[in-house]
Amino acid sequence: MNHPHPLLDLPPLTADRFAAIERRVAALLATEQDVVITQGEALLPLEGCIRSGARPGSTALNIVTGPYGQTFGDWLRDCGATVIDLEVPFHTAVTAKDVERALAAHPGTDFVSLVHAEAATGNTNPVAEIGEVVRAHGALFYLDAVASVGAEPLLPDAWGVDLCVIGAQKALGGPAGVSAVSVSGRAWERFAANPKAPRRSYLSLLDWKERWIDTGRRALPHAPAQLEMLALEACLERMDAEGGLPVLMARHASAKAAARAGAAALGGGLEPYVYEAADAAPVATTLRTTGGVDAAELVAKALAVDPSVPLAAGGGALAREMVRVNHYGPAATPEAVRASLTALGAALTDLGRPADVDAALASATAAWA
Ligand SMILES: *Cc1c(COP(=O)(O)O)cnc(C)c1O
Repeated sequence: MNHPHPLLDLPPLTADRFAAIERRVAALLATEQDVVITQGEALLPLEGCIRSGARPGSTALNIVTGPYGQTFGDWLRDCGATVIDLEVPFHTAVTAKDVERALAAHPGTDFVSLVHAEAATGNTNPVAEIGEVVRAHGALFYLDAVASVGAEPLLPDAWGVDLCVIGAQKALGGPAGVSAVSVSGRAWERFAANPKAPRRSYLSLLDWKERWIDTGRRALPHAPAQLEMLALEACLERMDAEGGLPVLMARHASAKAAARAGAAALGGGLEPYVYEAADAAPVATTLRTTGGVDAAELVAKALAVDPSVPLAAGGGALAREMVRVNHYGPAATPEAVRASLTALGAALTDLGRPADVDAALASATAAWA
């Protein structure tokens, strides 16, 4: 017999332990709603909620401020809903006024989908104000908060969010293989009344309600993703040990301020992609290359200088002009931001676009505080 392996030879994860982790997630979201921990990456509850809440005859307002919004629109159309896409340029955020106008133009809207913060494009949307408008209209409000949870305030109950989906892999520095959603009473009613809502399916949230929540959370419907559940618990414990959510959010706010200020001082044609600081997400800072510098090439050079920096080029067509500084989770530190600026400065200089690394580091350090 080999030695017991720390990842393999674990006692079973009990229903009580599972329920306790759920309660921790509910506390994280300050929610009284039902929290379902979904046994897969966040795309699972994101898709499950749309397939449960939308149906032929639905009209959905789909707010697109980045690539995830485009995916949600495709799912909504696939469910037979009439979809109104409200597209906003990636360098800004949507406003409550924009949403109010769209709802007035489409009074039959019964579902609104929104991404809170976009790690892929670096913007964040004013959910509290939008929630007021959506609530006044009476539509169900679906929010992708995967990139905002842990990085900035997220209050689904206070903001009137009916379906709030989170994952642990961004600001929380946790596992990617489980996710969670808080579900309002209104949302459960909508799901139950939808004959097309997934049932006896891995996408089904109603299954979890019937087989887990409504039976008092006594027996798990199937074997849980044990390692991921333990990792989720561990990342919440680590957050608490650091001082809790306020400390984690402050670290992300500082990383954003430092990255924006540092990039502005760096020169070399690099500038914050999101114009207004208020529209920029604390989870990740996106930068725009100018003067013909290809962002993918710049990032490749920066990573060759320092492979440890949390840099990536934008996805798809954005790879030509967008650099992402993914300063989230364990990378929400002054060191990671400074190293990113240093590597970008070296890469820009190498590409014939002289950059002032000393000025960038001085600005970043000042802005962190
Ligand atoms: C990261 C993220 C997700 C999760 O998707 P991945 O493709 O696994 O990274 C979902 N929504 C948003 C807004 C995200 O930033």
